[in-house]
Amino acid sequence: MEATLNFPARLIEGYHAFLATRLPTEQDRYRHLADHGQKPETMVIGCCDSRVSPEVIFDAAPGELFVVRNVANLVPPYTPDGAQRAVSAALEFAVQALRVKNIVVLGHARCGGIKTYTEQTEPLSPGDFIGNWMALIEPAVAKVGAAPEGSLEEYLGRLEQASVVETLGNLMTFPCVRILAERGRLALHGAYFDVATGQLSVLDGKSGHFHTVERSVPRTG
Ligand SMILES: [Zn+2]
Repeated sequence: MEATLNFPARLIEGYHAFLATRLPTEQDRYRHLADHGQKPETMVIGCCDSRVSPEVIFDAAPGELFVVRNVANLVPPYTPDGAQRAVSAALEFAVQALRVKNIVVLGHARCGGIKTYTEQTEPLSPGDFIGNWMALIEPAVAKVGAAPEGSLEEYLGRLEQASVVETLGNLMTFPCVRILAERGRLALHGAYFDVATGQLSVLDGKSGHFHTVERSVPRTG
């Protein structure tokens, strides 16, 4: 039966393009992944933002990245209270079962979640899910200070980057992450993507500064 069922036409079109271009070149890879399971080396914690797809930015093939996306790429601190915690569950699976070697927290410019928090906008619903979730960035706000008068662009950039640093700190509150990181078997990284220019920056853990990644491919040999 033709599975139209009012499914978005753009997605069916995209799927046909996938069948015509990507699947033929990656069929063996998909089959191997199906038979042997996934073994990604890197977990990415990214934002839901439709402009910041980790698989696109890092040109990743199927099976390469284990991705968790949520509003503003946040990780709540370790809280073993029995509540249903999506990020904690994914983190536990990535670290304990898949044994990823890297966790990348990928922040980005013009993050709607960060902006919403800064502007203290009215809750979208009585539950105020975004407001409650974004309260996680309060420690980052405490570090960069209150928003200045006038243009917020530069301030928001600093807050977005400070939030990545804070999230890396929250990751270390998970015993499974801390133990493996201290043993050198798991590395935590911060990164920041500028939506307008496509520029990626990575965090220097020692200085706490983000450095832009060279855009030209270094020649080898
Ligand atoms: Zn965002």
